[in-house]
Amino acid sequence: MNYCEIKKNDIANGYGVRTTLFVSGCTNHCKDCFQPQTWDFNYGDPFTKEVEDEILLSLEPYYVNGLTLLGGEPFEPSNQRALVPFLKRVRERYPNKDVWCFTGFTLDGELQRDGSHPRCEVTDEMLSLIDVLVDGRFVAELKDISLRFRGSSNQRLIDLKATLRENKIIPWDKK
Ligand code: SF4
Repeated sequence: MNYCEIKKNDIANGYGVRTTLFVSGCTNHCKDCFQPQTWDFNYGDPFTKEVEDEILLSLEPYYVNGLTLLGGEPFEPSNQRALVPFLKRVRERYPNKDVWCFTGFTLDGELQRDGSHPRCEVTDEMLSLIDVLVDGRFVAELKDISLRFRGSSNQRLIDLKATLRENKIIPWDKK
């Protein structure tokens, strides 16, 4: 069983109005993490079919741009395995809405490196279901409150579709 929290009509975690799914569990343990309670894999409410349905319904209004995955750590393998089938439902029902995901891992570091902790049998599929990836651990020494959608300057806003297509990191820079 996976655990989570939901925030609807969120305007802080991605472009436009969004539903944000905070998935519980994170082994990164960054210094000064802004929500260490979510390191616990059992924090929050069970991620059930009913919760999935509630999120899908919340995405329906025209003014909701899409879904954001936050943590905890969405790319913990146990979270990936729960999220991939759900993301497929989101994609099927809302092909024109976008999916953002925040991760403490780096795309061209752990997520694409065989043998690393987060890389598992569904990682590539999960990456293929995301539009914008905000990657990298929060580094307290690099904290910068002026950054858009990021906590520290090492973190990157990545246009994941373009990046996977062109096989090089393409920043997301929508105004
Ligand atoms: S990856 Fe995110 S949730 Fe995990 S410790 Fe770092 S800042 Fe906290």
